Amino acid sequence: MRGLNLKNKNILIYGLGVSGKAAFDLIKSQNSNIFLYDNKIDKFKNIKIIKKIDFLISLLNSLDLIIVSPGISLDNVFFKTAKEKKIKIWSEIELAYNMCENNFIAITGTNGKTTTTSVVGKIIKNIDINSQIAGNIGVALSKSILNIKNKKSFIVAEISSFQLESIEKFKPKISAILNITPDHLDRHKTFENYAREKKKVFKNQDKNDFLVINYDDFECRKIYDNHESKSKIVFFSTKKVINDGVYFLDNYIYFKEKKILSCDEINLLGMHNISNICAAIAICFCANIDIKIICNAIKKFKNIEHRLEFVRKINKIKFYNDSKATNIDSACTALEAFRDKNIILIGGGYDKHVDFYDWINKIKEIKVKYLILIGETKNKIKNQCEELNFKNYLLCESFEQAIKKSFDLAISKDCVLLSPACASWDMFDNYEQRGNIFKDLVNKF
Ligand code: ADP
Repeated sequence: MRGLNLKNKNILIYGLGVSGKAAFDLIKSQNSNIFLYDNKIDKFKNIKIIKKIDFLISLLNSLDLIIVSPGISLDNVFFKTAKEKKIKIWSEIELAYNMCENNFIAITGTNGKTTTTSVVGKIIKNIDINSQIAGNIGVALSKSILNIKNKKSFIVAEISSFQLESIEKFKPKISAILNITPDHLDRHKTFENYAREKKKVFKNQDKNDFLVINYDDFECRKIYDNHESKSKIVFFSTKKVINDGVYFLDNYIYFKEKKILSCDEINLLGMHNISNICAAIAICFCANIDIKIICNAIKKFKNIEHRLEFVRKINKIKFYNDSKATNIDSACTALEAFRDKNIILIGGGYDKHVDFYDWINKIKEIKVKYLILIGETKNKIKNQCEELNFKNYLLCESFEQAIKKSFDLAISKDCVLLSPACASWDMFDNYEQRGNIFKDLVNKF
């Protein structure tokens, strides 16, 4: 452990989702007094859950530490008072970091985190079966800390801006920022705030640590240009030859000017995935892994569910599930990967207070045949389509109706693509549920 002693400390776990529960399991044997708060559940492992915020506020005088769930905004009276009282507020990744001695590879960015983390995880498992793949990707970091058997093994962590909001000493050996484009502005309010949170991933790094960043991304390049980080920077790019980094050129990936992999051997669709692969190679190089092991693992890597996932072909119409495209940038990326196809696109969903002009312009540029709109944002998108003079949209009341409509409109060789540019929380529990329902309905045709 990195010198953390929780004995007799009063600790509140605020939010009992996947990470809150894992945090509880991680600290329950530390002889601390643990309080749990959640407004949705009543009991957890025989511990009564606090539900009244007044009671929580009265607890503030005695608390030593608050572990906050990533889904919870700190913008309320409770957290404001806690900050005034100088009580430590940690995200679960900070807790996990302090409860082990392992080195972390922390991968963040607006898009591509899960893909890149999975690729890096697969590569690293080849040299160390004990390494853990965790974080935003499904297994909470606290759980992976309980599972890890060897102090020398890497923890490969997918990290979101929400988790970075409440770190203190979190210091990955290798950090990576894949890209920073507008997202989650409902929570972070401005793009500058959002970018600042992402950049916290390297704030504690020193000259012995590595920071892998995307040369093609304006915000990432600013880190280098403005000397924002102390770590050793390794660039990757799909647009420019980077003498000292990883780059794409003429269907090959190069590392330090040596051809290492043909893109024909990569089983993932789209240039964005070439970018993710370049990032993964750069990260694994920093982890000192042999380039042959890296390339062999990449060749074996298959697509991940809900990301440009091929579902089915009916009457020569292909259906793709890209439910994970929950923001403008990822949805534009999907369209880019389908540039030469005739697309019937299903989009819309939960309102994150971003505008859709860039997406609609891409829809026009790619010549999407029809845009079928659903969810909370459908009227907002419709109005912006009108403003940009894109007329081939239609609105549907339900998801089922939208899918049926897409099938009615499609002709031979068209592609129906669910790539919503919005989160799913207005109609579904999460993007996985949205993608699974899409697949079920398509499979029932
Ligand atoms: P994340 O975990 O950051 O949400 P994923 O790897 O799950 O990223 O991919 C989510 C969606 O984002 C994919 O469906 C794809 O359309 C898009 N995407 C993936 N990688 C990139 C990238 N490097 N740049 C832009 N969009 C991307």
